[in-house]
Amino acid sequence: MGKSHEYLNENLLLFFGKMYDTIVKNKFQVFFQTINRIQRGIFMYFDTHAHYDDEQFETDREQVFDLIHESGVELVMNPACDIASGKAAVSYADKYSWVYAAVGIHPQSVLEMMPGDIEEVKKMSSHPKVRAIGEIGLDYHYGADTKKEQIELFYEQMRLADMLDLPVIVHDREAHADCIDAVRAFPNVRGVFHCYSGSLETAKELIRRGWYISFTGALTFKNARRAAEVAKWLPDDRIMVETDCPYMAPVPLRGKRCDSSMLQYTVGVLAEIRGISPGKAAELTLKNGINFFDIDL
Ligand SMILES: [Zn+2]
Repeated sequence: MGKSHEYLNENLLLFFGKMYDTIVKNKFQVFFQTINRIQRGIFMYFDTHAHYDDEQFETDREQVFDLIHESGVELVMNPACDIASGKAAVSYADKYSWVYAAVGIHPQSVLEMMPGDIEEVKKMSSHPKVRAIGEIGLDYHYGADTKKEQIELFYEQMRLADMLDLPVIVHDREAHADCIDAVRAFPNVRGVFHCYSGSLETAKELIRRGWYISFTGALTFKNARRAAEVAKWLPDDRIMVETDCPYMAPVPLRGKRCDSSMLQYTVGVLAEIRGISPGKAAELTLKNGINFFDIDL
């Protein structure tokens, strides 16, 4: 009996020793990386919407992760489009301390859904680094013929977010009226409209209801007058930025494969619109992302 106790204790000590080692080393590494970036005058960014599970990152995903972190991207949120991409997002969150995940079914995946997928989303949401249900919503640009199914799926996932007390990441493409209807139908759910393309009037209602608004590289495009108007009006504590990579590369890199290191161009334009410094815009949007996704640093 004594022997087996000793054996158990030894193993426990070894286990906790290893765990302590990993945590301390990790924290120190993050700390020194941060100091190093501050010394070099690099701002810190939060890319609140990036799809690193996309096949465009198949051949060099690890290098891209290293490169973007080195470039000043302090935090990344990788939302899911379906079950497989949710699993991928969670695996990156497991691997990188500064990557977080959201799980959910994108409106464009509505026809490929399998029975039990929502149950699976629910299961995945219990992972400690899953901080939102997303991306969910409506896309009438590509899915005008599946409106009914999309709305059903959207409401089902809003119900889930309500039940789990998690925020949502909403994709709204040419479906503004139906999306705001869903927001009104779930007064206890908070979320963000990502890659915002709605009106100032809708933005005002969203802010009143406690929601956030996020901008992609599309804010840097010449025809982004409406988005710029919203970006100028928004209260300081409700704006977030994102790349939506690999899509939406900002000017001057428009058309290239996008990654989180390009976020600085969007932040630069946001700063110009709001009449603040790029450093202040980076700081503001980083802080808002941390609050929204409830990230403890
Ligand atoms: Zn997206």
